[in-house]
Amino acid sequence: MPIYEYHCQACDKDQSLLFLSQRQAAARPRCKYCGARRLTRLLSRFAYHQTEAARLSDFDTGATRDDSFYRDSRNVGLWAKKRAKEMGVDLGSQFEETVEQARSGKIPDDL
Ligand SMILES: [Zn+2]
Repeated sequence: MPIYEYHCQACDKDQSLLFLSQRQAAARPRCKYCGARRLTRLLSRFAYHQTEAARLSDFDTGATRDDSFYRDSRNVGLWAKKRAKEMGVDLGSQFEETVEQARSGKIPDDL
C-alpha cells in the first residue's frame, strides 16, 4: 500500500496519506485536516535524498568527459526543476535551498 506525502494548498499542512491501491492514489485525495482537494504531492525525505544522491553521482561520473551541460552551474537548477516537474512534484523552498547547495559546493569541480 503506497503512502504519499502531501502539502495542502488550502490549510498549508503537510500530511501522509495511505492508499489501498495505486489507482486510489491516482485519484485526487482530500486533505485530512480541512477536506479540500488541493493537495500537492511531495517526495518523502528518504526518496528525496536518494534522488539527490543519484544526481550527484551522475554529475560525478558524467561531468569529466562531457562537460558541455555542466559547464554552466545554472544548469544544475534547470535539470532538477525539470526533473521535479516531470515527477509532478512541488518541492517548494526546501527544494530551492538544495539547488543552491548543489550549485555552490556539492557538485565536484571537474574543470
Ligand atoms: Zn487542508
